[in-house]
Amino acid sequence: MNIQMCDLKGQYLKIKDEIDAAIQEVIDSTAFIKGKEVSLFQDELASYLGVKHVIGCANGTDALQVALMALDLKPGDEVITPDFTFIATVEVVALLGLTPILVDVDPSTFTIDIKRLEEAITPKTKAIIPVHLFGQCANMDEVMRVAQKHNLYVIEDTAQALGADYYHSDGRVAKAGTIGTIGTTSFFPSKNLGCYGDGGALFTNDDALAAEIRSIANHGMKVRYHHDRIGVNSRLDTIQAAILRVKLKYLDSFNKARIEAANVYDAMLKPCSKVITPARAKWSNHIFHQYTLKLTGVDRDKLQKELAAKGIPTMVYYPIPLHMQKAFDPYREFNLGRSFQVSDTLSNSVISLPMHTELTDDVIKYIVDNLMVALKE
Ligand SMILES: *Cc1c(COP(=O)(O)O)cnc(C)c1O
Repeated sequence: MNIQMCDLKGQYLKIKDEIDAAIQEVIDSTAFIKGKEVSLFQDELASYLGVKHVIGCANGTDALQVALMALDLKPGDEVITPDFTFIATVEVVALLGLTPILVDVDPSTFTIDIKRLEEAITPKTKAIIPVHLFGQCANMDEVMRVAQKHNLYVIEDTAQALGADYYHSDGRVAKAGTIGTIGTTSFFPSKNLGCYGDGGALFTNDDALAAEIRSIANHGMKVRYHHDRIGVNSRLDTIQAAILRVKLKYLDSFNKARIEAANVYDAMLKPCSKVITPARAKWSNHIFHQYTLKLTGVDRDKLQKELAAKGIPTMVYYPIPLHMQKAFDPYREFNLGRSFQVSDTLSNSVISLPMHTELTDDVIKYIVDNLMVALKE
């Protein structure tokens, strides 16, 4: 059995004809930059998400950076992010001369802890970046309540949850990334909507902000060669947009395949006393960018080695919480006195199993059977 964390090849083979044709069409047109596929994809994703504006960019990290640049922030302003996320979320905050304030996460959903979020707010706080980690939304009703109370911007990092539904407490349903001031995402190949290289996007319902974002991502210009501000060059390639147009049509079925695989894992892992299967938040569905277990009383390194010997890859997202990263030493003083007990514990106890759109019940059974043997259960 050839088991992968993410089976991009298997997925490609199922849609090969459409993908190949879409790529060839762009090559034939030679409109590699800002071809029609880019604006078509932006419109299609906007209508899928139910948001007014989608602006493509070069990757998910740029999306976060451009989002922060579009807000009127100044050096020293504080931006709150969860401590347990991929570094990109926080890196851009520091890069722009803003101060990253890290907050612990909820032990069951791994998303930002609302109580700790409120405690971290100071007069310098200007924005919150909740992360919809592993495919499930942060508690956005609570994030928005806190943001409104303190007049803060909200940038939703939706790199791992594109297509997830958020269930507002008043019954409305919204797509992840469309609730805050700006939503951002990544089309890195292994993401739920992945392209065949790098790509990213921003979403907003605010017309003025959308114009600002478009300008920043295009060298700070609105009129050609008139540069109103310092911007960046961050574009979604036409070829990637063409691929994404094909894959967007399948996003719901891709996410459904992940959910079904997760349900099979859950059922098969039920007898296993040393693992805690992923919790489902009541405010969001879970589209399983990752299927992440919490281990109790298990030597994780040994387990990973034993599974690898059986041809089963596993990953640890994330082995070091951000407050322990060397790169954040300069910001330690801002994060002293805050507890990161949950992210510390998670980084030592989580393990992600293979999760993708092509998993079969047989493969899942093979993985779980071997996991049970390794755990002596
Ligand atoms: C992947 C990811 C990013 C960055 O996306 P890139 O396209 O790789 O730059 C940002 N935040 C989170 C949570 C991610 O998982």
